[in-house]
Amino acid sequence: ASEIVLIGRSNVGKSTLFRLLTGKRVRVGRRPGVTVGPARALAGAVTYVDMPGYGYMKGAERGVQEGTKDFIVRYLEEKADEILLAVQVIDAASFIEIADRWEGRGEIPLEVELFEFLTDLDLAVAVAANKMDKVEDRDATLDAIGERLGMLPPWRQWRDRIAPISAKGGEIGPLKEIIKSSLQDRSAGGP
Ligand code: GDP
Repeated sequence: ASEIVLIGRSNVGKSTLFRLLTGKRVRVGRRPGVTVGPARALAGAVTYVDMPGYGYMKGAERGVQEGTKDFIVRYLEEKADEILLAVQVIDAASFIEIADRWEGRGEIPLEVELFEFLTDLDLAVAVAANKMDKVEDRDATLDAIGERLGMLPPWRQWRDRIAPISAKGGEIGPLKEIIKSSLQDRSAGGP
């Protein structure tokens, strides 16, 4: 396995994070509504892959959104063996409010569906809880996020799977730790 894939809705901070991890700038001047393939960059021993936004995209037509989702699902299914770690990037500042809204409509929140899909593929999954700079009560927010994804509180016992970060502020230490241990597992011949 040699790929680390970043997945999440548009606007959660994927490209900002991708740039921090790889030094490569992507999506400059990109218009919504145009299906684009993933951005890829080699950094050290791994290739980072920045997927297009999963699900709703402001300004994009429904057909494009569905096409993007299909593309991502197919990519993950076909490449599962090559994926060292799937990083699901979420906007921690709005996750709970959006999940509540979906559940109020009787729907499974998109991010919960995505997380379950990744887990069902037997991928190693890390949740990058981004935009933590906008969150007031960090522990309560991270507990609530974890709980929605089936990780019972306190969130701190899931530090190998939940990484509170602020990509904009360059604060991604917890995610780097998770990446480091995936790389160690790999060189140890582990899962
Ligand atoms: P993408 O669509 O998921 O690739 O998201 P972008 O990387 O383009 O970021 C979307 C917006 O969120 C931009 O305005 C970023 O500056 C902003 N953003 C990204 N990371 C953070 C963060 O950690 N904190 C805050 N407050 N804003 C962020």
